[in-house]
Amino acid sequence: MLSLGTLLLGLALLIIVALVVALPLFDRKTPAIELPSRREALAQERRAVISAIRELDFDYHTGKISAEDYKRLREARVARGAQILRELAELADEHGATDVEAEIEAQVARLRKVATSDGRAPARAVCPSCSRVVGADDKFCSQCGRRLQPRQSEAVASAE
Ligand SMILES: [Zn+2]
Repeated sequence: MLSLGTLLLGLALLIIVALVVALPLFDRKTPAIELPSRREALAQERRAVISAIRELDFDYHTGKISAEDYKRLREARVARGAQILRELAELADEHGATDVEAEIEAQVARLRKVATSDGRAPARAVCPSCSRVVGADDKFCSQCGRRLQPRQSEAVASAE
């Protein structure tokens, strides 16, 4: 016959074993890496391409890369951006979106717009002190606090 003490001990052991087995399962509740959906991956890459294009514009206008490299790299990135937009549109199409071609063309046109035919991007002011890009109407540099003369920053931007 089992005494109450043995029964309780058995029960306690059972609970401990159950906890030991179950704890790792709880740990696994937060997966290490969640694979993003195709759409999310594309949207992410689109943001990356757009910021890469902006960086490229900045590098060109601060004289870090040659006009040739700028044109070549920018073309490649805009082409990749267009490809991403098409893939995104195809995904949207599956969900019944219409007239995506026009939207793609508009977005590609926006991407291309910065590269103007004469090779100059829209006027951009650069802090004469720390080279940070600042707004054309900013009174002070947001990085180093230098006072910015509107004319002076314009001169820097167009000196390229
Ligand atoms: Zn500055």
